[in-house]
Amino acid sequence: MSRVYNFSAGPSMLPLPVLEKAAAEMLNYEGSGQSVMEMSHRSKVYDGIITEAQALLRQVMGVPENYKVLFLQGGASSQFAAVAMNLMTKSHKADYVLSGQFSTKAFQEGSRYGDCKAVASSKEENFSHIPELNPSEFRPDADYFHICLNNTIYGTAWHSLPDTGSVPLVADVSSCILSRPIDVTKFGLLYAGAQKNVAPAGLTIVIVREDLIGEPQEGTPTMFNYGVMAKNDSMYNTPPCWSIYICKLVLEWIKNEIGGLEAMEARNVKKAQVLYDFLDQSKLFKACAREDSRSIMNVTFVTGNADLDARFVKESAAAGFVNLKGHRSVGGMRASIYNAMPPEGVAKLVDFMQKFEQENG
Ligand SMILES: *Cc1c(COP(=O)(O)O)cnc(C)c1O
Repeated sequence: MSRVYNFSAGPSMLPLPVLEKAAAEMLNYEGSGQSVMEMSHRSKVYDGIITEAQALLRQVMGVPENYKVLFLQGGASSQFAAVAMNLMTKSHKADYVLSGQFSTKAFQEGSRYGDCKAVASSKEENFSHIPELNPSEFRPDADYFHICLNNTIYGTAWHSLPDTGSVPLVADVSSCILSRPIDVTKFGLLYAGAQKNVAPAGLTIVIVREDLIGEPQEGTPTMFNYGVMAKNDSMYNTPPCWSIYICKLVLEWIKNEIGGLEAMEARNVKKAQVLYDFLDQSKLFKACAREDSRSIMNVTFVTGNADLDARFVKESAAAGFVNLKGHRSVGGMRASIYNAMPPEGVAKLVDFMQKFEQENG
């Protein structure tokens, strides 16, 4: 059977060489006589995998010495609470920018654990852009300032970071981690669910500055306690072993076959440009995100006619371009073009859109 071009927002495509390597190693990982799914997480052979995954993530992302990398579970959504429980411990205040559904959920969840303030929002414009900021709204004594760097549902992204002074910047990077270099030193904490750009679902990555790991709020579950997880090298309990293994293979692919995150970014920018250039000249399709806020990972677009949108989604799927239906809260279409989407997948999609426009324009 031939493989489709999968534009799913997550879980999403994985690089073909990674799937092939995992398949080749499936029954007998490096002479161990077992698959990675079956081995003890305390075994020597698995220790090699998790240690290498950690080291590669630090190397590829350029994570400084004074940051911990944690491999957790529960998805990015668990971090909406964990961040608040671990970091909202001094003034018990935190500022949030509402740029979409996930940042709104993070704000709502954080509000259960302290005084959270929405300092800006673009909800009135259906989150079609990153909101304008008014720094006089920021609270200088906040324990952290939370943003979502790439808004998966709306196809928007921050292109410059807010200046929060000495207040640690916390970012949900679920849908843009590893898509381009990130200057980790600008952040107190980064978190991401793995299932968009890193690995299959099950792994949640937290990169946190060591001085922010302290005594969490009273009542914080042990599994949410960054200090406990850091002290135990993410092995307090059984980690998501398989997902961490695939994460290692994906990092090897980025490092050895792509050539690192700068090369990854160049490839991703080019891919997105092909799609946006087409949308900008099309008489049928229109990009949804405001130009200054466009994401290179998730591209949202509409025809302006719901019936035509539905026909496009149906016909594109039949032609081998699957999961192009937009999120239920936005409608229209969304092409998620994460790292693993090859450039020819985007080129062929544009060809298909062109043909669709000729037939339906
Ligand atoms: C997918 C996504 C989430 C939710 O992730 P889970 O791992 O399913 O909890 C949160 N934030 C962003 C930006 C996402 O893209």
